[in-house]
Amino acid sequence: MNGVKVHITGVVQGVGFRPFVYNLATDLNLKGWVKNTSAGVVIEADGDRDALDSFLQKLRDDAPPLSRIDDFTASFGPGNGFTQFDIIHSESVDGAFQPISPDVSICDNCLRELFDPNDRRYRYPFINCTNCGPRFTIIQDIPYDRPFTTMAGFKLCPDCEREYKDPTNRRFHAQPVACPVCGPRVWLEQNAEVRMQNDEAIAETCKMLAEGKIVAVKGLGGFHLACDATNANAVTELRTRKLRVDKPFALMMPDLEIIEEHCFVSEAEKELLTSSARPIVLLKKKPNSTIVEEVSPRQDWLGVMLPYTPLHHLLFTNSLFTVLVMTSGNLSEEPIAIDNDEARDRLTKLADAFLMHNRDIHIRCDDSVVRVFEDNYQSKIVNRKSIYPIRRSRGYSPFPVKLPFDVPQLLATGSELKNTFCITNGKCAFLSHHIGDMENYETLKSFEQGVEHFERLFRVKPEAIAYDMHPNYLATRYALEHAERENLPMIAVQHHHAHVAACMAEHGLIEPVIGVSFDGTGYGDDGAIWGGEFLVADAKSYQRAAQLEYFPLPGGDAAIKKPARTALALLWSLGLEWDERLTSVLEFCAEDQVTLRVQLEKRINTPMTSSMGRLFDAVSALAGVRQKVNYEGQAAIEFEAMADSAEAGMYVFGVEAGRVRVRSAVEALIKDVMAGIPTSKISARFHNGLAEAVRETVTKISRDTSLRSVVLSGGVWQNITLLRKTISLLSKDGFEIYTHREVPTNDGGLSLGQAYIAASRLRG
Ligand code: ZN
Ligand code: ZN
Ligand code: FE
Repeated sequence: MNGVKVHITGVVQGVGFRPFVYNLATDLNLKGWVKNTSAGVVIEADGDRDALDSFLQKLRDDAPPLSRIDDFTASFGPGNGFTQFDIIHSESVDGAFQPISPDVSICDNCLRELFDPNDRRYRYPFINCTNCGPRFTIIQDIPYDRPFTTMAGFKLCPDCEREYKDPTNRRFHAQPVACPVCGPRVWLEQNAEVRMQNDEAIAETCKMLAEGKIVAVKGLGGFHLACDATNANAVTELRTRKLRVDKPFALMMPDLEIIEEHCFVSEAEKELLTSSARPIVLLKKKPNSTIVEEVSPRQDWLGVMLPYTPLHHLLFTNSLFTVLVMTSGNLSEEPIAIDNDEARDRLTKLADAFLMHNRDIHIRCDDSVVRVFEDNYQSKIVNRKSIYPIRRSRGYSPFPVKLPFDVPQLLATGSELKNTFCITNGKCAFLSHHIGDMENYETLKSFEQGVEHFERLFRVKPEAIAYDMHPNYLATRYALEHAERENLPMIAVQHHHAHVAACMAEHGLIEPVIGVSFDGTGYGDDGAIWGGEFLVADAKSYQRAAQLEYFPLPGGDAAIKKPARTALALLWSLGLEWDERLTSVLEFCAEDQVTLRVQLEKRINTPMTSSMGRLFDAVSALAGVRQKVNYEGQAAIEFEAMADSAEAGMYVFGVEAGRVRVRSAVEALIKDVMAGIPTSKISARFHNGLAEAVRETVTKISRDTSLRSVVLSGGVWQNITLLRKTISLLSKDGFEIYTHREVPTNDGGLSLGQAYIAASRLRG
């Protein structure tokens, strides 16, 4: 009799790993045990050598679909004389940690049971199994076991307990297992009173939605505000109540067929839509779609997701509507509501009713947003995947990004807007769920709770803190206070270096690269607002090899709201006149023009900027697209949406050593505007010219440095038109091009870069 001891780490908890091991061992007639510890899954098994070999092989080959094995060690020895195979009690190992599974959308088996009238969970909104259901959002601590989840208060009924304990059952050790007898329930609440429960509540919710009402629906990671997306009045009312102007709303549709009625969907997009993370996928809208313009004003794409909880599926089993707006349950800028009381408090003015339930959400987690970016060129783009993340949250977080080397335990506090933070342990970088814009107390509180939770879950006590150099970021101030209190080393990281490093970390790059960081706003070494940067960078340090030429930004970051003002400042700095034929100029009366001119001449509250985002704002305004915006990047997004893909002309930038000059391009653009050239052509010519300027600048830097790897990072690279054109040009020249595939190219990925830089510096 031989024995083997196996230790497995990776995502192996909450994904049906122990039952899988149990069944495999029993099939092979092995004796012994399997257990979860906070350091992974440990197995001891007795059997003959052939059976043990086959056991080890199958552990790796047939592992459950949601698991991911990182390390696998096995050592043979004499048998222990076990007489049966058991799943034994979980154990917490000091200081050890394990990745935790993100939340997983309902699986096909559970979906079948949900609509099977003979099943005891028929139409039960909390059906789940070992392969699906809530994970990250209900876990309070590790190891992942029911007492450490928000399901702890629901005592299993005899039927559920039997399933839970039966190794042949597909709910064997499914921690959130529940049924109508013993589990959570839903109800509909209006004016602080419970109106209906269970199926009745769901039916009434559907009726209200069909009538154009707005209902707050409690989901996996927080509340959504739902309304019928084909009802213009309802959507407009929702915008008014939420104080959200123009910014697109996410949509939920019951199946791919309905999605295809409204959007163009490629195979890669289908794959993302139906993946177990069920993200919001950005899709091109079809011209004949009945979804009202108010959902996504002046844009040609929609953010669409499939139902991912049983409750969502139940909402769509009626013939009253097929498309719902599902936007986060919050007032604009605040974090998404998760507690019932919090929702009653904060959402009462926003929702006509609440579809609530009593399974608590331990940590908030917004829907993720992704798009497909496939390069269609014969390029050397590295790590071909089609996903291009915009917001990485539910379904992805807290799945770690793997780093190329072991790093100390660190905390990186991220950016001001679209904040995420990142903690590291071993080779894992745990990027947090989406925290949001750190502009109010609520969000800061959510950030602090998130950090504490991650430190506990992943057993991290930071040895150093990395943060953005911007002195006024709330995340930076948190970092400084925290580091001082704990007496920890502080590592300041330049914003655009962090962007480039985030992309390097994803691809495991250590050697220097040419980093093209195009962005809205970031604090520069010289105190200016950077954002059109060409860096020669490795994971420790960088040099600014070239930049977009500086222009003044009257009012600083406040100028973000008024592209017309940025446009005039740009013209002034280039020595171009404020011609009254330009819409941007007409935005200012004579008096205001004088004031602005004085402000520019005297440099009153007027920092210099090399921001590519602000350049996009300015040219969008000059092209007549938008003079004021309601959210960051709006002008640029609408400008991009107009670009005529067939147009080959371009505005030529002045590429000099260390500088990209814009005068010639802006002049040509204005000439076209005056000549009445269609905005679609103007937009395309600007994009074409900028891509060419990137190619020329990168080529110069490459000649000087011999570097051939180019990293594209920063929020402006969400502009797919620019991304596609740039990659097309660079790849023809044979550069190796790296783009984001795991974390967002915008500030949502910044903390990963900060952590990577801090780790590299500490490593020496
Ligand atoms: Zn399931
Ligand atoms: Zn039960
Ligand atoms: Fe940024």
